[in-house]
Amino acid sequence: QMNERESMFLVSKFAKDYFHEILLENEQGKAIGLSYFKERGFREDTIKKFDLGYCLDEWDAFTKEALAKGYDLKYLDKTGLTIVREGQDGRGGKQFDRFKGRVMFPIHSMSGRILGFGGRTLSSDKKTAKYVNSPESDIYHKSKILYGIYHAKKEIAKQDNCFLVEGYTDVISFHQSGIENVVASSGTALTPDQIRLVNRLTKNITVLFDGDAAGVRASIRGIDLILEQGMNVKVVAFPEGEDPDSFAKKHSDAELRDYLENSAQDFINFKVSLLMQDAKNDPVKKAGLIRDIVTSISKIPDSIQREVYVQECSRIMDISERVLFSELAQLISKNT
Ligand code: ATP
Ligand code: MN
Ligand code: MN
Ligand code: MN
Repeated sequence: QMNERESMFLVSKFAKDYFHEILLENEQGKAIGLSYFKERGFREDTIKKFDLGYCLDEWDAFTKEALAKGYDLKYLDKTGLTIVREGQDGRGGKQFDRFKGRVMFPIHSMSGRILGFGGRTLSSDKKTAKYVNSPESDIYHKSKILYGIYHAKKEIAKQDNCFLVEGYTDVISFHQSGIENVVASSGTALTPDQIRLVNRLTKNITVLFDGDAAGVRASIRGIDLILEQGMNVKVVAFPEGEDPDSFAKKHSDAELRDYLENSAQDFINFKVSLLMQDAKNDPVKKAGLIRDIVTSISKIPDSIQREVYVQECSRIMDISERVLFSELAQLISKNT
């Protein structure tokens, strides 16, 4: 007897194939979904590689097709592909496609199974959520998923580095520009489980920030978690208003590569200079920032590496090494 998770994987795979076929073969799929991806500059081979799709703009076209093919409503419900409303007053219940009218990004596990979906609206109406994702379920655990890991794993190991971006389209654009060692946290704050997925493949992460101040400050918090796992972290900031996708579209493959190489900064140094801008000549703020930096350094498991950072920060921030080391010693005794 097949277990419930297996049934959920099966219906998810069916949905992935169905949405993909609609995108490529159906009149509405081609006119709306495929045109959208093409306007964004996605090539047909890229669309196929990532199994991109389209969910018809009808209440239950997908659900009906899945039921007709013999898939059980129970698993359509459990995976969240279908929203099931209970019937009332003796009348029958209703079923709706969760992703109605959206272009579809299937989310693969490390081994290539379909765990869930992200669906992007094509409407520019600010009231509509830009992306809708599969709900948490027995197979979709948002905190353990990195979009693109299946397509990136080989190249992450080969390059011994992983680029971490925010969004689905950033991952896809990079592939199209010839960079395949890239995964996305999909807009959520980075978690230890997500980092562990990468840690199995490389000790080096390069975090790419969307070029907006909010993005940078939000992502910085997640980075201590990467240091805690003993990984080396570099960061690349993009120009104001650009994200990795839009930047990649505006530049040649070689320009993108050069930019990534030349703009990558060591995380601790980046954090020091960013916080130093805030603190400027305010001694109270500066004291706070020193504690913040030393906290990051205290997360690094390797003591020699910690010492190197202390020396460097002492120089950049113009604080004696002695003070930094004593602050560090306090934090480390608290950590353990
Ligand atoms: P696009 O280029 O299509 O506008 P993006 O990837 O640049 O999309 P961002 O706004 O930078 O979009 O968001 C980054 C990621 O955060 C998205 O790819 C998506 O995974 C997630 N995200 C964004 N908006 C939402 C939302 N309303 N609900 C859930 N997740 C979201
Ligand atoms: Mn963003
Ligand atoms: Mn973005
Ligand atoms: Mn974008």
